Amino acid sequence: MPLVIKTKCVSCKKCVRKCPVDAIDMVKGKALIVEDKCINCGKCIKICPVKAILRDRDIVKYQISADLDDVKDSLSKYKSKKAKKRLVKSQLRQIRLQQKVLRGKMKALKHLKL
Ligand code: SF4
Ligand code: SF4
Repeated sequence: MPLVIKTKCVSCKKCVRKCPVDAIDMVKGKALIVEDKCINCGKCIKICPVKAILRDRDIVKYQISADLDDVKDSLSKYKSKKAKKRLVKSQLRQIRLQQKVLRGKMKALKHLKL
């Protein structure tokens, strides 16, 4: 299912008008795809003028690239190599922590009694 990158959406509503099954709502001025209704036709992806709608596989690439740009931006504020290394180390520690949280969350969700 496609996903809207909220920060890129310019609220033009072209995707809303194009969707054949009325699966896109506007929430706080940003497009939001309703998972249950979407038939994955891809029409919204093609019509979006700012490429704010991405397929699953492209979202991963986009997120990695955006996160890396943020890290590079932060690194540029430091002059010494030591401080830069400290920042990278700290980022890696945070990612490992997030991985643990996500793994725990996935496990808990799988065993959730409904
Ligand atoms: S992929 Fe197709 S059905 Fe799904 S939200 Fe986009 S236009 Fe609508
Ligand atoms: S077409 Fe793109 S920019 Fe326009 S509302 Fe949809 S997601 Fe946002």
